[in-house]
Amino acid sequence: NGNISVQDLAARMHVPTTEIIKALFMKSVMVNINQTLDQPTAELVARELGFEVQTEQTVTQTTRTEMLDLEDIESLEPRPPVVTIMGHVDHGKTSLLDAVRSARVAEGEAGGITQHIGAYQIQISGEEGERKLTFLDTPGHEAFTAMRARGAKVTDITVLVVAADDGVKPQTVEAINHAKAAGVPIVVAINKIDKPDANPDRVKQELTEYELVPEEWGGKTVMVPVSAKQKLNLDLLLENLLLVADYELDLQANPNREAKGTIIEANLDKSRGPVATALVQNGTLHLGDILVVGAIYGKVRALYDDRGNRVDSAPPSTPVQVLGLTEVPQAGDEFEVYSDEREARRIADERARKLRESRLLEQAAARSARVSLGS
Ligand code: GDP
Ligand code: MG
Repeated sequence: NGNISVQDLAARMHVPTTEIIKALFMKSVMVNINQTLDQPTAELVARELGFEVQTEQTVTQTTRTEMLDLEDIESLEPRPPVVTIMGHVDHGKTSLLDAVRSARVAEGEAGGITQHIGAYQIQISGEEGERKLTFLDTPGHEAFTAMRARGAKVTDITVLVVAADDGVKPQTVEAINHAKAAGVPIVVAINKIDKPDANPDRVKQELTEYELVPEEWGGKTVMVPVSAKQKLNLDLLLENLLLVADYELDLQANPNREAKGTIIEANLDKSRGPVATALVQNGTLHLGDILVVGAIYGKVRALYDDRGNRVDSAPPSTPVQVLGLTEVPQAGDEFEVYSDEREARRIADERARKLRESRLLEQAAARSARVSLGS
């Protein structure tokens, strides 16, 4: 009959039940964990959380258009791909991120202080001029999982790092599953090829068990042998990421509108107050903009790029540090800029009120559950 319990829907979408309750809450529908949803309501939740409803029973993730509005269609421009690096512990994720970043910094903007903001952007010159790539440096799988669980979709391409001397390991498989579930294309970086016991062919062989077949074996997956340590083939990897972006994805955004995006990480700085790294996914974020993140309100007081330079604005696919929020948001929270300050405050206040109400409701539900258990 198309009805589904909150718990079953959560399980099917791999999100916590609280996300579902919250999503409905934002749509002024109050449910508790024990309730059954009818089909239109279940579909509403699925769409809210960025899923595409395909048939009565199955839901799959959409492509990366969820940050676009109908009005943007006329003004779309290409945007850089946003890349996440995943893989088993010690296979070289951090080394590869650092190698790519330092190679670029050394070539171009020497003297630029690279500060850690959880993401960085590099520029490479190709045949058609300068191209940019954005790398997310989410601290391990937990942050990525948390963001995904919260419905955040920020990654366009996943680089799967597999050490050539170690092969496919449990977290490699986990990363493959994450990327597949999110519908994100995988580019494999077979790392540590400088090691004497490196065996790239064995890695390729092992990956075929997970339907990742290298192009040279008639498959569709780009696999690049690299060494983060000796900085081998890094350019080849970057070129291939751009090729995947160009031929498999259609990455566009409207830079001429108010910004929208996702918080990558955030913390409370003793002297500067709440500091958030935001990834702009549509529009351009400007100094002085009024933004709402979840139930938090803010006015952009300062913006810093990934080198720690003050900037005035951040176009699509740019990671930027934002000062001026009234509270610390969570990784995975979406933000949106409003032209009307009163409207922004009203939306933030309204959400805060609803959150308080839903917490009270949850507490009440927990209490009544305890009572009925006790009886
Ligand atoms: P992560 O846990 O995936 O972030 O892995 P790390 O980047 O911390 O690297 C784990 C270890 O492998 C460190 O000792 C690195 O120096 C080493 N390593 C990373 N990449 C390479 C490489 O290309 N060649 C060699 N020989 N060692 C590497
Ligand atoms: Mg690491």
